[in-house]
Amino acid sequence: MQPRDLSSHVAYEAGRGIEEVARELGLDPDDLVKLSSNENAFGASPDAVAAIREFAPRVHGYPKTSAADLRDRLGDRWSVSSGQIWLANGGDGALDYLARAMLDPGDPVLVPEPGFAYYGMSARYHHGTVRSYPIRKADDFEQSPERILDSYEDERIVYLTSPHNPSGSELSREDVETIADGTDEETLVVVDEAYGEFSETPSTIPLLEPRDDVAVLRTFSKAYGLAGLRLGYAVVPAEWASAYARVNTPFAASEIACRAGLAALSDDEHVERSVDGVRWAREYIYENLRAETWESAGNFVLAAVKDGTAVSEAAQKRGVIVRDTTSFGLPQCIRISCGTREETKRAVEVLNELV
Ligand SMILES: *Cc1c(COP(=O)(O)O)cnc(C)c1O
Repeated sequence: MQPRDLSSHVAYEAGRGIEEVARELGLDPDDLVKLSSNENAFGASPDAVAAIREFAPRVHGYPKTSAADLRDRLGDRWSVSSGQIWLANGGDGALDYLARAMLDPGDPVLVPEPGFAYYGMSARYHHGTVRSYPIRKADDFEQSPERILDSYEDERIVYLTSPHNPSGSELSREDVETIADGTDEETLVVVDEAYGEFSETPSTIPLLEPRDDVAVLRTFSKAYGLAGLRLGYAVVPAEWASAYARVNTPFAASEIACRAGLAALSDDEHVERSVDGVRWAREYIYENLRAETWESAGNFVLAAVKDGTAVSEAAQKRGVIVRDTTSFGLPQCIRISCGTREETKRAVEVLNELV
C-alpha cells in the first residue's frame, strides 16, 4: 500500500546543525559557529533550565496543572482569557491547530513567498490548497497591505509574518487591521509573531478584542531560547476559543515544556539580554558585512550575495554555518542569525573573505 497522494507536499528544510556539519567536514563541533536557524545565541533562560531539572522526576504524570497555569499566565500577560491561549508543541503545532480548526478539505490558504515553509505544509496536511502572495526583493521586501490584498481571492486563511522570515520586514498593527478589513468575514488572518520580542513594533494581539478574524502566533523558541523544548501558542479570539478542546493533540505541550515556559516567562532579564545582544549583532552586521543587507526586526539579517549556495558552503568549510536561502526562493541571498559578539564578528570576518 501507499500513503495518500503527497506529491504536492514538500519536506521542511531546516538550517544545518553543528554536529551534522562537523561530522561531514571532520571538524570539532566546538570550532563551528552556527548561525543558520535563528536560535538564541545566549542559550535558554537559566531559570527554565533549573525548572527542567526540578521537574524531571515528575514526568510520569500528564501535564494538567502546569498547562493550565501557563495558559493563565499567558492570558494575564496579553490581557485575554486563558481559554484564548492555544498551547502547542512549538509555534508549528499551533499553526496545525489553526488549520485543523479552520480548513475543510480543498479550502485555499494564502502564504507569503518567500516565507516560512510550514504555513503551506500545515495547510496541505489538513487537506487545504496553497496560493501565495509575493514579498518582493525589488521592493526591499516591503509588506504592503494593498499588495497583499491584490493577491487575495477569498482564501480561508491569510498568513502574515511580522517580523518576516527571512527578510526581517514588518507589518504594523494598522496594516494588519487593513488586511483583516479587506478580507471576507470568513477569512482568518494569522499573524506570525515568532520574532516579536526582537521588534519595537507592538504586538497585534490587542486587535483580537473587537475582532473575531485575527489570530496571533507566538513561540518560546526564539527570544526565550527554548527551541529544543518545543513550546508555542496561538492567541485566538474569544468567540471561537473553545474549539481548542476539539482540535488539540492531548498534552502536546509537555510537562517539562510547560514548567520551563512558566519559569522563562518570569525571567525578564534573560529576554532583555537576548534582545540587547540581537540589537548589537544586527548593527554590527549592517555596518561591517561587505554586502547589501536589509534592515531586520528579527534576530537575523538577510544579505545579498552572488550565489547563496556557494557562499554558505564556502563559509561552512571555514567553520561558519549560515542559512542558504535558496529553499526560500532567494538563491542570491544568505540569512545570518545574530550570534554572540564573538560569533557574529567571526561570521562577518569569514563572510567578508567570500563576498
Ligand atoms: C521559528 C519560527 C516559527 C516557530 O517555530 P517553533 O520552533 O515551532 O515555535 C514560526 N514562524 C516563523 C516565521 C519562524 O521562523
